[in-house]
Amino acid sequence: MSDLLARHRAVMPDWVALYYDRPIEIVEGRGNRVTDADGTTYLDFFAGILTNMIGYDVPEVREAVERRLATGVVHTSTAYLLRGQVELAEKIARLSGIEDAKVFFTNSGTEANETALLLATYARKSDQVLAMRQSYHGRSFGALGVTGNRAWKNNSYSPLNVHFLHGADRHLPQFARLSDHDYIKVCTEDLRHVLATATGGDVAALIAEPIQGVGGFTMAPDGLFAAYREVLDEYGALFISDEVQTGWGRTGETFFGIQAHGVTPDVMTFAKGLGNGFAVGGVVARGDLMDALHAVGLSTFGGNPISMAAANATLDYVLDHDLQANAARTGAIVMDGLREAAGRLPVVGEVRGKGLMFAIELVDPGTGEPAPALAGVMMEETRRRGLLAGKGGLYGNVIRMAPPLTLTEAEAKEGLGILIDSMEATNEASE
Ligand code: PMP
Repeated sequence: MSDLLARHRAVMPDWVALYYDRPIEIVEGRGNRVTDADGTTYLDFFAGILTNMIGYDVPEVREAVERRLATGVVHTSTAYLLRGQVELAEKIARLSGIEDAKVFFTNSGTEANETALLLATYARKSDQVLAMRQSYHGRSFGALGVTGNRAWKNNSYSPLNVHFLHGADRHLPQFARLSDHDYIKVCTEDLRHVLATATGGDVAALIAEPIQGVGGFTMAPDGLFAAYREVLDEYGALFISDEVQTGWGRTGETFFGIQAHGVTPDVMTFAKGLGNGFAVGGVVARGDLMDALHAVGLSTFGGNPISMAAANATLDYVLDHDLQANAARTGAIVMDGLREAAGRLPVVGEVRGKGLMFAIELVDPGTGEPAPALAGVMMEETRRRGLLAGKGGLYGNVIRMAPPLTLTEAEAKEGLGILIDSMEATNEASE
């Protein structure tokens, strides 16, 4: 065990899970690659867990942060006007497609969801919330309450009254034979049943990820969220879209993931990539909802000037370089190649995703059952070949990837080659 790992184990909680048999210490990043303490360089197909949305050491971001630092004023109080907040809020309000939108900044996705739930429950005067099975929204009390993934949900004593819905679990045996149309019908009837039998109809909101991130990139079929929205509207319940993973053009199709479903949510939450490594999150919501909360502020560091400088520069970069189109283009290169290879590798259950958000599900070739041990094998194989990926899924058997939106075509092909070699090695290990 390395000295740093031993020291980590001594003073950090046991539940802080590190990837890989020999955990990596990243010491440097340039472009879409990072280098570890041993001097090994990796193509980062996980973008630092989706934080470094436009890669590493981006001059525009560095200079924006340095300009702010050079002022000597890194004042964090929410009690003063801050130009960076207003400018960023204007951009996000415009991009959100939400009418009369207002924006509030936090430091993380967890806080963003906590704020969204606070807004919704307060505006609707109800602690009843709907969420999706297998979801992940963070680990604070409220966010954990709406998290439906058992791997993260333990130790949760939620203050909310939560009902979990079908919709991102089309793969379950009981739904396998249904067409998308019939699956949506079954799910919508179930939603109606939950509303009629388990609640007084006074539900505050549904919170959902357009593509479940930690859940292993499972998604609702087209039409499901629109059908849910119709039912929610009958009850006056709000729709919260958690865009922490799917925002900023990553899915290639639309700027925010939910927009591909033809649904305009009442509230969206965001975080991760927006600050390109600096802590920032937030909520964009209909102005009347946002204003319904009676609070003086919510967190001291939310929307701090350094994060705002980084976030403004990052968002401008994404828009100026049309990285949404790049996500569609480079994502298709990887996904098409993975799908083709998967056809001849029984260890691959499914390749799924959208744009620069794609996942490989690993199964036991004999039984088709989830194979978390083989996901471990594939993680080591990709690392050995110089590529960083993530792990997820309800059973921990999904390799999930979300490279920087700045991925080049050459890097997409390089990564694809590594992934195919690693899939083949994993397939061999399964025999
Ligand atoms: N929502 C989703 C969809 C996420 O994937 C995450 C983080 N993995 C969160 C919320 C929580 O965000 P954070 O880690 O910034 O608190």
